[in-house]
Amino acid sequence: MTQQPLTPADIERSIRNVPDFPKPGIQFKDITPVLGDARLFAGSVDLLIGGFKPGDVDAVVGIDARGFIFAAAAALRLQAGFVPVRKKGKLPYQTYEQDYALEYGTATIAMHVDALKPGNRVLLIDDLLATGGTAAAAAALVQKLGARILEIAFLIELKFLNGRSRLEGYPVRSLVVY
Ligand code: AMP
Repeated sequence: MTQQPLTPADIERSIRNVPDFPKPGIQFKDITPVLGDARLFAGSVDLLIGGFKPGDVDAVVGIDARGFIFAAAAALRLQAGFVPVRKKGKLPYQTYEQDYALEYGTATIAMHVDALKPGNRVLLIDDLLATGGTAAAAAALVQKLGARILEIAFLIELKFLNGRSRLEGYPVRSLVVY
């Protein structure tokens, strides 16, 4: 018997909702049960890649920290490079930095100045789209290096936070929507 292809509903069933983490009022979407299941992990990476094939993408950019897991796996599947966008202060070489708003205050992410070349075709991946601030900042860094974002893909989208409005002009895809 051949196995049925994985669907977003299969992934959704394995996402664990953890109330009041990391602080009261936040419902944390825990993806570790997805990662721990070989079929769900591989299937979620395949769904994140969507219609892209090897040769379509030069680099998959992943966002610190859970985005790395999916982006690195997607890069292998697409025979593309992997580029990390990290929280400020973590990358060892020269970086460009981008600030973005948090609920209280701001945060900063960074990318190596030579991580992408002008014209590189990029797939940007993170685990979750909430307000969109993180992904918008990452997209700004990719653009600063002159690379071209083909798509921004998320495992999870919290639609009620309207993060897509921060990503106007980019094709955005998410697998599981809350
Ligand atoms: P935002 O910049 O508001 O779109 O937040 C997205 C980033 O914060 C992603 O890198 C997520 O990993 C993380 N994040 C935000 N909200 C949640 C949540 N409810 N559960 C898990 N991760 C979250």
